[in-house]
Amino acid sequence: MSTASVIDGKAFAAALRQRIGARVADLAPSGLKPGLAVVLVGSDPASEVYVRSKARETLAAGMASFQHVLPETTTEEELLALVGRLNRDPAVHGILVQLPLPKHIREAMVLAAISVAKDVDGFHILNAGLLATGQAAMVPCTPLGCLMLLKDRLGDLSGRKAVVVGRSNIVGRPMAQLLLRENCTVTVAHSRTRDLPAECRQGDILVAAVGRPELIRGDWIKPGAVVIDVGVNRIEQGDGKTRLIGDVCFAEAVQVAGAITPVPGGVGPMTIACLLANTVTAACRQAGLDEPRFD
Ligand code: NDP
Repeated sequence: MSTASVIDGKAFAAALRQRIGARVADLAPSGLKPGLAVVLVGSDPASEVYVRSKARETLAAGMASFQHVLPETTTEEELLALVGRLNRDPAVHGILVQLPLPKHIREAMVLAAISVAKDVDGFHILNAGLLATGQAAMVPCTPLGCLMLLKDRLGDLSGRKAVVVGRSNIVGRPMAQLLLRENCTVTVAHSRTRDLPAECRQGDILVAAVGRPELIRGDWIKPGAVVIDVGVNRIEQGDGKTRLIGDVCFAEAVQVAGAITPVPGGVGPMTIACLLANTVTAACRQAGLDEPRFD
């Protein structure tokens, strides 16, 4: 039995951030400084951590960071007004509204209000449509990061059988679209899939984006497959502490797969790096400059 190589998402993301920083430095003489605005409504501790680290990484890449932290009581109208101002602000090239939003604000309304060109999360319905029809789109950051890791490992993905478990609009569905764009033969599994283990066993590539701790077992994996574990599940350790585990049982999967991402340290670090990449891409498109390639 061979042991899978562990894909170091942290190192890959660090190298990607370096390339992004270099591109940002190249743009400086033209006076273009890519800017990312992050909007947080309310005081969810996990969201606050995400927003802080997004701002830190944005600044570290030499880009401009604009943070808007609004109280929980903010109305939908007030939030839409802020999004409108950011849409018109020429210093802002990317806008991210941290989800989830408080219950009294309709997420769909807010996402639809973000300018398509500044939608660096890729959640706007027009960007989803562009991706689905194979056109240039802003691609959601997490699946974009997964694709970069896969291409780095496998090179050309053409003709490979890919199984994506999960069909959410932020991970599973765009992941499947991206793999299709790379000429994979794609199966999308979900909670109504009849024989999930058998479907998973078909995949040369297996992407798990479910949110169920260690759902995917070692004997569900095709020997030699590349396994990308998007899941982030916080579980009690028993000593009052918590730890993060993925949707794949790593200890079992590592005995079967050819390569696998760990949790933490796999897909997670790629998400913010891809957000920065999308912001630089958005800035270049808005300025009419050549688009950088980060994949
Ligand atoms: P959602 O809850 O929106 O979607 C989960 C998907 O999994 C759904 O399509 C659902 O099917 C499917 N599913 C649920 N249970 C089963 C099951 N038993 N068998 C098969 N399919 C099942 O989650 P997200 O897509 O937002 O996130 C998925 C995971 O990825 C989470 O752990 C999340 O924390 C993590 N994540 C990590 C990120 C990162 O940066 N590393 C970023 C974003 C998410 P159905 O549609 O039928 O309900």
